[in-house]
Amino acid sequence: MFLTHLECTFCGLRHEWSQLQNLCTACQKPLFPIYDLAGAGRTLTREALASREKSLWRYREVLPLPADAEPVSLGEGGTPLLRAARFGATLRVEDLWVKDEAQNPTQSFKARGMTTAVSMAKHLGATKLAVPSAGNAGGALAAYAARAGLEAHIFMPSDTPRANIVECRELGAHVVLIDGLITDCGAEIARRKVAEGWFDMSTLKEPYRVEGKKTLGYELAEQLGWVLPDVVLYPTGGGTGLIGMWKAFDEMETLGWIGPARPRMFSVQASGCAPIVRAFEAGEKSAAEFPNAHTCASGLRVPKAVGDFLMLEILRESKGGAVTVDDQEMIRVSRTVGSTEGLFVAPEGAACFAALEKLLAAKQVAADERIVIFNTGSGIKYLDCYEQ
Ligand SMILES: *Cc1c(COP(=O)(O)O)cnc(C)c1O
Ligand SMILES: [Zn+2]
Repeated sequence: MFLTHLECTFCGLRHEWSQLQNLCTACQKPLFPIYDLAGAGRTLTREALASREKSLWRYREVLPLPADAEPVSLGEGGTPLLRAARFGATLRVEDLWVKDEAQNPTQSFKARGMTTAVSMAKHLGATKLAVPSAGNAGGALAAYAARAGLEAHIFMPSDTPRANIVECRELGAHVVLIDGLITDCGAEIARRKVAEGWFDMSTLKEPYRVEGKKTLGYELAEQLGWVLPDVVLYPTGGGTGLIGMWKAFDEMETLGWIGPARPRMFSVQASGCAPIVRAFEAGEKSAAEFPNAHTCASGLRVPKAVGDFLMLEILRESKGGAVTVDDQEMIRVSRTVGSTEGLFVAPEGAACFAALEKLLAAKQVAADERIVIFNTGSGIKYLDCYEQ
């Protein structure tokens, strides 16, 4: 294993990877795993990847977990990057691609984060895992915990889509419904975790979910022949995928796989819950909690994110931006995507297709650029939103 330590993303304080960690013990900000990339690059080469398994564990040298430990895996990652020529034609864009994350175990990209986080939690001796979830994180934790033989305790807002609640129960998790938002669920876990012996698996409050999600960046580069696209549209809740991809780009540059060019990164949020868009537009370094958050895109219903400052830095450094889409637009465009591309996308993914229309109209994205949209989940879990 080439993981050397954990480092605070805010104050730089070093932490040991060999014990269970949540936030930085000095400043309560997220920790990043740091690797010996020179060592990793001796066996992990672009050529070596060609013959490896399709799962995200193909990037083993830049992932946590000692080499002799078996990952808790359900075959996550390795999703297709599909050309979206027919939908693209409706907007007159020529080079549009969709990374279809609905094809992961439990039908969303939350599987990526949970395979690495559950593998490490198990390795470091955790037995009871807890997570707040407004949707797909719960199902993914339930699945990976079951696979690992660990307990899962999932706290969900009572208006979470039914499919997510049923899924968690059928996967053997303990499910608690809370009258409130995902932030209230997180607070309940924080209050009870010491007494109950739970390890908190909240995204970015736990150092390894971001590592699974960063493989989105590795896969994107690999699938596009090691040339990153011009524009990335990412449906943003906690921002773990956005932050993870940016980390992956830096690691790949250190490995000598790509140059210094980066895509312009755009955060797409729901108009009913847009803390990052609001902070980006106001020029703020962190994002205030968004009041009365509501949207049917439950993955975007995150009124306050612990990685807010990291996202805002990335959006600005990449010369990207942030844009909102309302629920009606998501539902409308999802049918166009479905009927032109054969993908029944989650409303979060649909939001990015709707956002592209806005960005083109505002001339923030040009019709001849190479654009990648992340469809982060499947529409099948959101029948309550679509059945109207
Ligand atoms: C969780 C989730 C998101 C948001 O992901 P982050 O990386 O936390 O911003 C987007 N789409 C879907 C379908 C999700 O489940
Ligand atoms: Zn710190």
